[in-house]
Amino acid sequence: MLADQQPDTHQNYDVEAVNSPKRRQPLYTARKKIFPKRASGTFRKFKWLVMLITLGIYYITPWLRWDRGPYASDQAVLIDLEHRRFFFFFIEIWPQEFYYVAGMLVMAGIGLFLVTSTVGRAWCGYTCPQTVWVDLFLVVERAIEGDRNARIKLEAAPWSFDKLWKRVSKHAIWIVIGVATGGAWIFYFADAPTLLHDVVTLQAPVVAYATIALLTATTYVFGGLMREQVCIYMCPWPRIQGAMLDENSLTVTYNDWRGEPRTKHAKKALAEGKPVGDCVDCNACVVVCPMGIDIRDGQQLECITCALCIDACDDVMTRLGKEKGLISYTTLNNYNRNMALATSAEGTIEPSRVRDAAGKFIDKIRHTTWRSIVRPRTVLYFIGWAAIGLAMLTVLSLRSPLDINVLHDRNPLFVMLKDGTVRNGYDVKILNMTPEPRTVTLRLDGLPGGTLSLADSKGASETDLLLELEPDKVLPLRLYVHADPKALTARQTGFTMVIDSTDGIRASTRANFEAPEKK
Ligand code: SF4
Ligand code: SF4
Repeated sequence: MLADQQPDTHQNYDVEAVNSPKRRQPLYTARKKIFPKRASGTFRKFKWLVMLITLGIYYITPWLRWDRGPYASDQAVLIDLEHRRFFFFFIEIWPQEFYYVAGMLVMAGIGLFLVTSTVGRAWCGYTCPQTVWVDLFLVVERAIEGDRNARIKLEAAPWSFDKLWKRVSKHAIWIVIGVATGGAWIFYFADAPTLLHDVVTLQAPVVAYATIALLTATTYVFGGLMREQVCIYMCPWPRIQGAMLDENSLTVTYNDWRGEPRTKHAKKALAEGKPVGDCVDCNACVVVCPMGIDIRDGQQLECITCALCIDACDDVMTRLGKEKGLISYTTLNNYNRNMALATSAEGTIEPSRVRDAAGKFIDKIRHTTWRSIVRPRTVLYFIGWAAIGLAMLTVLSLRSPLDINVLHDRNPLFVMLKDGTVRNGYDVKILNMTPEPRTVTLRLDGLPGGTLSLADSKGASETDLLLELEPDKVLPLRLYVHADPKALTARQTGFTMVIDSTDGIRASTRANFEAPEKK
């Protein structure tokens, strides 16, 4: 509800923060509905951009194609649970390479430390799915029901046809967004065009419909109905981030060293000789806040640092002809320094202490600079994050597309044959991690006189075996290795099993050959 309009400069809003310290709520209390006003400004534009990018990535990615030849999926990003593969453009991760996923999770963790220690809860304010989808749901709400005042009016109005169709349309579009969100998710786990056809023609597996239903429900409830309640009561991140912030982390801060004493009637107060801060107590920062809080009450768990209050206040300051930044990204260190400058011996804030005769801020006032971001702690996080990324890229670029695993029989360790040779049995797995068929030669290296034969073959033992590998498959083999014990010097001889593909790729693994003890 608007009150005391002052069209020449700014508007005052009749609003109180949902968690106002003036009347602290009990822990369990009915939700007070928030009607955030549309903000405009630099941070709002940045948030629109981030929202477009993140939603675009989420919805479009399953539809991107990547040519892997005729033997593998052409979906650029695919979590193929059936064949236990993860495809990411040119990268294909096999189950035994799960350490890549672990590495990415560690990188994500360090990245969160890096971002939080640098710019506070930027994840919450800009890229968290909850924030992005709530923003999207608010776009729909505003388009149908109008901005804050119209929505408050509609909420208070008795049920009518107008209210009914607006509410039904809003919730219907929210549910469509929920379905699209759940739908997009399942496309990451199967060929998207095929699965879409199956879903539409009711031929998809039950789990696909169940996943869509579950994600539709959670998107609708979390993004449309619960909104800020999810951040305040359900998400652990606000609690964890407290341990990551330090006195040099940037957080959205009300600079009361220049804002106080706040007053709606600056001219009158000045005429009476009272000190007057820059805050005109218009509440513009409160009405745009999606969490319904008042940043002037200080740092709060509820603040997701979306910076919309900065936009709102900067707009007010510009209209009043004052410097922007009454609410700004600043560090606790800078804030404390500036507060110390502004505070008199009696403990009151005196705006005149931070301004010179011309009304400009004195040089001692500290402003946010790049030094707030580049400091030992953030540099260390960045080095750790980049080192893991580089190590993973190096391992990835050096890995062989062929691999071989060998398991020696436990019992019996060896078998004496009639011809006096010794035979050892092995379970061998040859992995062709490329999307094309390959021909490879399997041979032994380092076992004197050693020969090979397939367990199910009746042919003679050979020095090497020619094998055909199917694309993107594991070839399991039951293999016998033969050797003359006279040629061996010890009971156990280490050797190498080597595979060479016709196009020059080699993979190998170590194994042992067991023979009877020499007498
Ligand atoms: S106080 Fe400001 S930064 Fe924090 S959630 Fe509200 S609008 Fe966003
Ligand atoms: S901090 Fe800025 S936006 Fe908020 S009440 Fe004061 S002047 Fe208005």
